[in-house]
Amino acid sequence: MNPIIEVIDLTMAYGDHPVLHQVSVNVAKSEVIVMIGPSGSGKSTLLRCLNGLEKPQGGDIRIEGQSLMSPAVNMSVIRANIGMVFQQFNLFPHMNVIDNIMLAQVQVRKQSKDAARAKALELLKKVGLTDKVEHRPSSLSGGQAQRVAIARALAMEPSIMLFDEPTSALDPEMVGEVLTVMKQLARDGMTMVVVTHEMGFAREIGDRVLFMEQGVIIEEGMPRQLFDMPRHERTKAFLSKVL
Ligand code: ADP
Ligand code: MG
Repeated sequence: MNPIIEVIDLTMAYGDHPVLHQVSVNVAKSEVIVMIGPSGSGKSTLLRCLNGLEKPQGGDIRIEGQSLMSPAVNMSVIRANIGMVFQQFNLFPHMNVIDNIMLAQVQVRKQSKDAARAKALELLKKVGLTDKVEHRPSSLSGGQAQRVAIARALAMEPSIMLFDEPTSALDPEMVGEVLTVMKQLARDGMTMVVVTHEMGFAREIGDRVLFMEQGVIIEEGMPRQLFDMPRHERTKAFLSKVL
């Protein structure tokens, strides 16, 4: 089967500061990839390259066979197909919950307001927030806000979801409710790339775990293999600090 994401020898620098060194990875449809690694290792940069927020200097990224480096690529089509959820929820503070979820459907997808509203309500049910439809983001807990952010990304019906430390800004008691939504998404067959420190989640849901350090994928494997029998000294050293 053709991979839905292909990253080939990707090289990325900020000015003269190299961040990714010939990174290659394929992701199959419905696969859940978990990326772990120390701060500054290039995890966020790799995610941002995947949806075109950064312009790499070398290599290639193909999404469903379409190269992001091609001059002919329509980035807005690619971005609409890739949902992204960040550590900070980035909800529009002046809009209530349902308007946050409807906005892109109406403005980007040109859906009718009725269709967008119906979709938003369905997604709010999915993330367990039917009682927050008319609430402002400021009245939500962090866990609720992050679930709205996930629903908002899903409203575009993306075929890929990228998560950059989605639970890192949350109080511990709210981590579970967000992970529960993500687990359900994974079971529904969503293709997901998740940067996280939640090793329990990685074990349970990850099809593959990538360990990244200094802009290089040092090691990858199934969670059990990578967590219990890491092959590389650097992976062992990292895991001994976080597990
Ligand atoms: P991680 O997500 O693994 O913590 P990042 O991808 O955020 O790593 O960062 C990788 C490296 O790139 C770090 O050295 C960081 O300081 C640098 N970096 C990240 N974003 C920028 C930017 N916008 N401009 C310059 N340097 C950046
Ligand atoms: Mg990061």
